[in-house]
Amino acid sequence: MVNSTTSLLTTARTKLEEYLLKKGLRRSLERFAILEEVYSRDDHFDAEDLYQAMHQRSFAVSRATVYNTLDVLVDCGLVRKNQFGDEDNTKSRFEKGLGRQQHAHLICVNCHRVIEFCDPRLQLIKTTVGDTMQFQVESHSLVFYGECADEECVARTKAATASASSNSMA
Ligand SMILES: [Zn+2]
Ligand SMILES: [Zn+2]
Repeated sequence: MVNSTTSLLTTARTKLEEYLLKKGLRRSLERFAILEEVYSRDDHFDAEDLYQAMHQRSFAVSRATVYNTLDVLVDCGLVRKNQFGDEDNTKSRFEKGLGRQQHAHLICVNCHRVIEFCDPRLQLIKTTVGDTMQFQVESHSLVFYGECADEECVARTKAATASASSNSMA
């Protein structure tokens, strides 16, 4: 059986190869190594996370190369760029673009966990609004902010600590 992650990466590599050729950009080893790192993860990372991960792989690339390659990958649709309005607004969060269903995000305001959800009604809204407003919708971004139910969430941890200390005071 073909490992789906491997075949996804193969497809991504071919796409990047074609894109770089078409644009007359250098097909450097670094770019393909960065692509491989991106396709090995399932999270929403920022450029710095990626830079650190490359160094952990002992693949020394400069921050400039990471930023530049991310731009290329976003341009050719291999990476999706998200702008989450969290406390550090300047950071873009990236995720792999191939083999992913259209999805929206839930973000916990306490632990900053990012949760994905799919709802077919979003597609319906897109077409209905597009038709009504006579507007060609190309993409959308939807983020819900709130509190997650994760046991590890810092809000829960804090609440637990608070009640524990108030108990000890009593
Ligand atoms: Zn996502
Ligand atoms: Zn949380």
